[in-house]
This record gives sequence, structure tokens and C-alpha cells, in this order.
Amino acid sequence: MSSSGKATVGATVVTVGDELLLGQTVDTNAAWLGRELASRGVRVLRRWTVADDTQEIRSAVAAATRDADLVVVTGGLGPTPDDMTRDVVAELLGLPLIEDHDVLDRIRARYHEAGMGKPPESTRRLAQVPKGARKLTNPHGTAPGLAMEAEGGALVVLLPGIPRELRGIFLGDLDALLSHRFGSRLPPVHLHLVHTTGIPESRLAQRVAEKLPDGAAPASLAFLPDVRGVDLRFTMHGLSEADAEDHVRVLEDTLREVLEPWRFEAGSGDLAEAVAAALRMRGKLLAVAESCTGGLVMKRLTDVPGASDVLVGGVVAYANEVKAGVLGVDAVVLAREGAVSEAVARGMALEVAHSLHADAGIGVTGVAGPGGGTDAKPVGTVWYAAALDGRSVTKMERFPGDRESVRERAGQAALFLLLRLLDGRISPDD
Ligand code: AMP
Ligand code: MG
Repeated sequence: MSSSGKATVGATVVTVGDELLLGQTVDTNAAWLGRELASRGVRVLRRWTVADDTQEIRSAVAAATRDADLVVVTGGLGPTPDDMTRDVVAELLGLPLIEDHDVLDRIRARYHEAGMGKPPESTRRLAQVPKGARKLTNPHGTAPGLAMEAEGGALVVLLPGIPRELRGIFLGDLDALLSHRFGSRLPPVHLHLVHTTGIPESRLAQRVAEKLPDGAAPASLAFLPDVRGVDLRFTMHGLSEADAEDHVRVLEDTLREVLEPWRFEAGSGDLAEAVAAALRMRGKLLAVAESCTGGLVMKRLTDVPGASDVLVGGVVAYANEVKAGVLGVDAVVLAREGAVSEAVARGMALEVAHSLHADAGIGVTGVAGPGGGTDAKPVGTVWYAAALDGRSVTKMERFPGDRESVRERAGQAALFLLLRLLDGRISPDD
């Protein structure tokens, strides 16, 4: 029985593909759909991943239509024999498949535009549309999404497995269909995300709890930690836009002092975006010198669109000869203090900024492990520095975890040090 009379909209997501079960492809569609549906107020009840097998697809979709209001199926809509979702679901819902001339024309036009001549016979399958199904425009491909009614009233939606195509359809036609179909039953959901880095989850949670002894109601609060930092996510269901904004203001006021030393603003969630924005706002150029992070910091900075406005370049100075010969770090200091030292991190940040004619510099040098540690400088020891206008600040940390985790943490810490220097949250110490 469908729950169409209920107040909330319940959904089941079914992802189809042997490659998902075998772990050859990570099921990013299910994660993406989960996020998008939840942010629209849909309750995702469960998700199933099934093989490219008619029996498996049929039983999953049949079970899903029994109690969900919305069933989203992805994968198996292509032209090859292992793509059987369309046929199985049409048969299950008792809808005959009819060749759709608009889709056929579209396929022919796409082949023609791409100079590929006549489409192969197999593409005819892409134009098979179950009778009465609504076609959902695919802005990035040929096979449209399909939306149909099951007997008990569930809406069944079939989407291609290719993530870009699925997203294009969802954010266009499917979005409109969902609001039209379920609009009044979708409670507005407001999310407020705060990014932090440099403070462990447990300590952050404790400080937040001291300020919010009775919780964050009517918001619910989740701590989302990863190796780079901890996000705080406040979720509010069913509030008006104005009430949600008011509550966010109260929460922000209450937590301002606790969060201020650790937070950063970035739509993408990546601290590198905040660093690029801070450089742009102050009209500063950045150069980066990396040893143990091997280019990780540069990679993240160059991932930010428009980074070329604020980023001059970088040097991966792995060997001491490069630290001294290319960057100009003092060879005597290098020999005396060792590559992983305060003086070398500072020298790297200052020298790279100087030689690349930048205003700001980052230097990172450390022992990423698993080998190379000593009693004085165990694995995880990282010295990092940020320089601005010829002055600098350095820090040392012993990061936990394996090689990858030490490198991630080191890159993040170095970016955050520079952000705080740019913001005036810290002052140069030399
Ligand atoms: P299909 O629509 O089943 O022919 O899938 C086409 C391609 O999309 C597959 O080869 C995968 O690379 C990708 N794909 C399919 N399902 C998923 C999924 N659930 N998550 C991420 N990628 C997927
Ligand atoms: Mg497939």
C-alpha cells in the first residue's frame, strides 16, 4: 500500500549495476540522490543496489512501490543487452513499450551533429518509452528520464546511470515534477553549515554544548568530522524562511566566540576557496613551497576557479638541494637544523614568495612516514609557515594517522595558518 495519504513523502532509491556490487564503481548516484532528495524534504527510507538481472531489478522495484511514494531507479537505461531496467519496469507496471519518434529524432540529430553518421541499430532501444510515461529531458545525453505511476500510486522514476546525465535530469524536469506532484507534502528544509578546522570534534562538541546546554532546537545539530576538519550542520524542518533565518542568527550569536578561532567560509567546503577569497579581497598574490605535501596544497588551490588571479605558482622542494638551490633556503641552516625545522619552514615560505614575486607564501616540511621518523622528530612531525609582506608565522604539529592523513592534515593546517594571517586573526612572529 502506498503512503500517498501521509504527511511526508517517503522514497526508495534503487541503483542498478553489477559494477556497483563488485566495487568497481562507487555508488555516487545513491549518495547524490540521497542528499538532493533530503534537502527537498523527501524522507529517504532505504536504498537498494541490485545486479544487472531482470529478477533482481523486478523484485526490488516491486517491493519499493508497495510502500514508497517515490521510487527512483538509476542505471541500466543504455543501449546494450545488460541494460534492462526500462523493459523490466515497463513489464512490472503493465505498460507496453512504444517507440518514441521525438527521442529517435533526437538521437539521429545528436549523431549527425557529432559527425558520426547514422546511429547504430542498438540505439533504438533508447527510444522505447513505456506507454503513458512522462519523458524527462536529458540535457547531457540521448536517453530521457522516465516517470510513471505504479498501481498503488507510487511515482516511479528511471534515470540513466551516468552521473552527469542523472544530475542534469534531476535538477531540471524532475525537480519541477516533484514540486508539482508532492509540493504541499514537502516540508521546507533549511540547512546551515559551519566549516571548522584545527579543533578536534570532541573538543568542539564540548565547547558548543557549554553554550547550548539545551541543544539547538528547533534545529538539530550534527558534527561531521573528516581528516581536514569538522563541519557543524544545523537542520531545521518545517520552519518558514524568516523563522529559520531568525534561529540561525540566534545560534550564530550564541556560538560566535566559540567558533571564531576555527571557522572558515567556503561554498565548496574547501578551505582553499576561503584562502583564495581572502587573497583576492586584500589584493595579495600567493606562492607555495611544499616538501612533504608534494603539491597537495597547490592542487587544492588550483582547483578553485579563478585561482590564477591570486596564485603565482609553487615549488615542490623535496630534496634539500632544491630547498637550497632553487628556493634559496640557507644551506647552513638546513644542515644545522635539518629539513624538518622551524627555520626551514619559515625560509621556504619567505623565499618562495620572494623568488616568485608574491606577497604571501606558504612553506610545509614534515615527516609523513611511515619511515623517516626519529626520537626528536617522530612520524607526523610537520613544521609549516605562512608569510605575508616579508613577515612570517610558523607552527609545529605532530599529526596522527598514516602517510596520506599526515599530508592532508599538514596541507590543511598550512592553508589555515595563512588564512588567519590574512584575516588578522594571528600576527606574524618574526
Ligand atoms: P548504465 O546507465 O547502467 O549503462 O550506466 C552507465 C555508467 O554510469 C556506468 O558504466 C557507470 O560508470 C556509471 N554509473 C552507473 N550507475 C552508477 C551509480 N549508481 N553511481 C555512479 N556511477 C554510476
Ligand atoms: Mg549498467
